[in-house]
Amino acid sequence: MDFPTPTQDWNAMTDEEFRRRAADLFGTHVPRHLCHLNRRPRWAEVKDWYMTMSSHGWLVPGWPVEYGGMGLSPAKFLIYVEELERSGAPRVMDQGLMNLGPVLIARGSEAQRRKYLPRILSGEHLWCQGYSEPNAGSDLASLRTEAHLEGDEFVVNGQKIWTSVAFDATHMFALVRTDKTVKKQAGISFLMIDMNQPGVTVRPIRNIAGHEELCEVFLDNVRTPRDCLVGGLNEGWQVAKALLGFERIWSGSPRQSILALLRLERFAKLSGKMDDAGFVDRLTQIKMDVLDSASAYDRFAQIMRTGGSFGFEVSVLKIWATETCQRVTELMVEAAGEAGTLTGDVDLGGEAIDILYPFLECRAFTIYGGSSQVQRNILAKSVLNLPA
Ligand SMILES: Cc1cc2nc3c(=O)[nH]c(=O)nc-3n(C[C@H](O)[C@H](O)[C@H](O)COP(=O)(O)OP(=O)(O)OC[C@H]3O[C@@H](n4cnc5c(N)ncnc54)[C@H](O)[C@@H]3O)c2cc1C
Repeated sequence: MDFPTPTQDWNAMTDEEFRRRAADLFGTHVPRHLCHLNRRPRWAEVKDWYMTMSSHGWLVPGWPVEYGGMGLSPAKFLIYVEELERSGAPRVMDQGLMNLGPVLIARGSEAQRRKYLPRILSGEHLWCQGYSEPNAGSDLASLRTEAHLEGDEFVVNGQKIWTSVAFDATHMFALVRTDKTVKKQAGISFLMIDMNQPGVTVRPIRNIAGHEELCEVFLDNVRTPRDCLVGGLNEGWQVAKALLGFERIWSGSPRQSILALLRLERFAKLSGKMDDAGFVDRLTQIKMDVLDSASAYDRFAQIMRTGGSFGFEVSVLKIWATETCQRVTELMVEAAGEAGTLTGDVDLGGEAIDILYPFLECRAFTIYGGSSQVQRNILAKSVLNLPA
């Protein structure tokens, strides 16, 4: 399979022109009925949108041009994300785009890149991330799913959990234990596994909002060729860590808080809460908190735009953005009184508004991608130099 030929040098454009092109493209092609969805869409629903982006060469802003990406500079990358979010585009199957692709580009062999990257772009391979296990979430290095070599194949046994959209995935990239005799981190390997084989069982888990998005994945004598190992044997921990580049800033973006605030303000107008001085006081406070979080994000984004890098202090962004978002949604549920206990759309002044879903949705934000407590530990140890 060949890599697509680049259509344009996007970095040569001015930021304004690039923003206009992004807004045009997303504005024209994002399927209206999937905008601002209150659940994670299935692959069958977003496939056309994925393929449209792919055929325009706009699927992966961060990959280098030679591998079919847009090769955007950090400044253009930020504009891309801002415009995509503004459009309300649905989330696609993105583990291959956001995680495995960059891992293969950084740590894979050229043969692996040539085999797997074009299949991610074409939507032939849909990836899920098999890291977490029961008793190995924050403490990921304690994972117990193991793999051993039999001839030219790894045989994998164990269980993964909280695997997002595994029911739609064709493949899983996983961290597995390949040496039990050494320090925890030193005995882990990074494997790519075909999900379409005997021994793979996927069981959906219903989330707090009642939607099936997460899964348990059981691996029972599952086989994968030796050349599906990324990096060396027992080097999986370093491979997984290679992902921690400037992507870390995204989890601290204020976009979710801003959306939640807009919803809260709409609710306040429709419900007459703007006449309640106590509520307006709290609304004003939370609005200032959202603006604070946005300006902290902008400070880090500016470092990124100008080619700089940051250290562990970026952890503060994720805590700030996700906890602020939770407080915005808590205020809406509280202010809605009885209506805040109902699932689905509630009628307010002739307009439909879902009060409870945003509250439920953002419970997960402070858990995945490093929980708030774990981020605080990082800040305490690595930024403030407090004792472990
Ligand atoms: C919506 C969602 C999608 C996810 N998708 C995926 C996916 O696709 N693939 C995947 O592999 N995983 C996925 N996860 C799993 C996620 O990475 C884990 O939930 C996360 O790492 C936390 O692990 P845990 O759930 O086992 O909780 P635990 O690690 O058991 O933590 C439980 C509580 O203890 C706290 N805690 C843990 N350790 C410490 C400590 N040292 N100090 C202080 N407090 C601590 C935590 O902050 C938390 O509050 C997803 C999770 C969610 C919520």
